[in-house]
Amino acid sequence: MKKYRIKINGMTCTGCEQHIDAALTSIGAKDIETSFQRGESVFELPNDVYVESVRQAIKQAKYQPEAIEEISLQDLKNFELDNKDDYDLLIIGSGGAAFSAAIKSIGYGAKVGMIEREIVGGTCVNNGCVPSKTLLRAGEINHFAKGNPFIGLQTSAGEVDLASLVDQKDELVTELRNQKYIDLIDEYGIDLIKGEAKFVDENTVEVNGEKLSAKRFLIATGASPSIPTISGLEVVDYLTSTTLLDLKKVPKRLTVIGSGYIGLELGQLFHNLGSEVTLLQRSEHLLKEYDPEISEAVERVLIEQGINLIKEVTYERVEQVGEIIKVNITVDGKKKVVETEHLLLATGRKPNTDSLNLSAAGVEVGKRNEILINDYARTSNEKIYAAGDVTLGPQFVYVAAYEGGVVADNAIGGLNKKLDLSVIPAVTFINPSIATVGLTEEQAKDQGYEVKTSVLSLDAVPRALVNRETTGVFKMVADAKTLKVLGVHVVSENAGDVIYAATLAVKFGLTVDDLKDSLAPYLTMAEGLRLAALTFDKDVSKLSCCAG
Ligand SMILES: Cc1cc2nc3c(=O)[nH]c(=O)nc-3n(C[C@H](O)[C@H](O)[C@H](O)COP(=O)(O)OP(=O)(O)OC[C@H]3O[C@@H](n4cnc5c(N)ncnc54)[C@H](O)[C@@H]3O)c2cc1C
Repeated sequence: MKKYRIKINGMTCTGCEQHIDAALTSIGAKDIETSFQRGESVFELPNDVYVESVRQAIKQAKYQPEAIEEISLQDLKNFELDNKDDYDLLIIGSGGAAFSAAIKSIGYGAKVGMIEREIVGGTCVNNGCVPSKTLLRAGEINHFAKGNPFIGLQTSAGEVDLASLVDQKDELVTELRNQKYIDLIDEYGIDLIKGEAKFVDENTVEVNGEKLSAKRFLIATGASPSIPTISGLEVVDYLTSTTLLDLKKVPKRLTVIGSGYIGLELGQLFHNLGSEVTLLQRSEHLLKEYDPEISEAVERVLIEQGINLIKEVTYERVEQVGEIIKVNITVDGKKKVVETEHLLLATGRKPNTDSLNLSAAGVEVGKRNEILINDYARTSNEKIYAAGDVTLGPQFVYVAAYEGGVVADNAIGGLNKKLDLSVIPAVTFINPSIATVGLTEEQAKDQGYEVKTSVLSLDAVPRALVNRETTGVFKMVADAKTLKVLGVHVVSENAGDVIYAATLAVKFGLTVDDLKDSLAPYLTMAEGLRLAALTFDKDVSKLSCCAG
């Protein structure tokens, strides 16, 4: 038997997959995996079957076959026949990347071990996405209770009992950690090994003095808060995103160094809970990698809400004076001192590679100690793969999980699949939230596109008007020649939900006209996408209801 992959045009649904499977079965193919989304079929073929007959069978089924490639079975043969190793895949880490790789690899029949030095589940469930988002929701409710935009509606907020909110958050974290991680260990038959892993050589990892061998390894060790070098920081009682989420009392003042997405989310959370919040950042523009319309809208929102933002800061030193932390800064040539009860460091994350002894395994790292991988998620050692935050790619759990899945396909499934990180939606869960996908105007120009853009202020979106919250923006970036949507950038309530439709538009090459011609439900925020599309050649404020 030999294993092949063929690209096929013309498949649009699962019915098409069945037609292809039937066509391939009729010529003797086995283990067929056809995907209409990927436009391909992977299968095994007996050595005596003429490969060209595959193309003929597909043509007869009324689809268009493209090039056919043989997949090396070397890996699979090793995997099936050679049982001298402890594991087929040994994974270091137990977060999103690790579990996705483990579950898929077990689907291929592999024996999988997973090593974790702290709490099973990794960052997202334990001290990232889940705890921050549930507390952000509580903060939002408190914010609206303190002041709502409707005349005649009396609401008020009492003192926040943060200890109770944190207990409730911890219960949710435990529940989701059990459901989505711990319970799956037995369910799938993963071997969990508790302890810190380090490589001894390229075939062996040591945990608690025990040596474990594997045919393939996955490094999915994530990242941790990185601590900037500011004089005096070593003697100051600062917080990171992990420790902040466990505070039991709302601080009177919270100062945040760094205003990326974690700094913004956690800063707004504590502002909404009642702290006086100051965000400090080195650069001139907030969210400088975003389109200027987006960063301007976010800056306006922060100011309207009463969050202090100080830009172009040079940090001189920090000092602890009793309960107070003094942050000495220079802004615009003038010295200033920001006094605060708590100081949050939110200046990015560094990959967890220090303790892995990567040189023993011949795994190369980059300038920031991130693991370098190729298009197939493979490191400089072809037996060792890496996925998720440890590679310092886009730091989202859905990216980590996707990459972990690709590792399983390549390391165990022998599929040689390339990572496709070309279209990644990103959301910052402040209120209004920020969501983006695809290229910014500047990136599109840098890539050689002739660019057309539309910018729609949120006060032109009916949902925002009825909500009485109109600070925000929709920006659409399109290729001027084809009108294909290249990027969408939104600041609005629920922007994170709106962006999924935009992700499909960018990924599948929809045009501005496709969006104009598709009905959008009236009084949803997603209608803003259609209105932004119409804004390319119309003033939508002059249109009637539903932009008809
Ligand atoms: C405050 C915050 C909010 C976030 N919010 C979101 C969000 O809303 N949406 C989103 O998509 N993403 C969010 N993220 C990012 C998301 O949490 C990460 O991208 C994701 O968890 C990365 O998964 P991973 O599998 O790469 O690593 P991790 O989940 O970090 O797992 C790595 C694991 O490896 C273990 N480990 C490290 N070294 C070793 C070793 N030597 N031996 C054994 N074990 C080791 C660690 O203990 C850890 O458990 C947030 C992150 C933070 C910090």
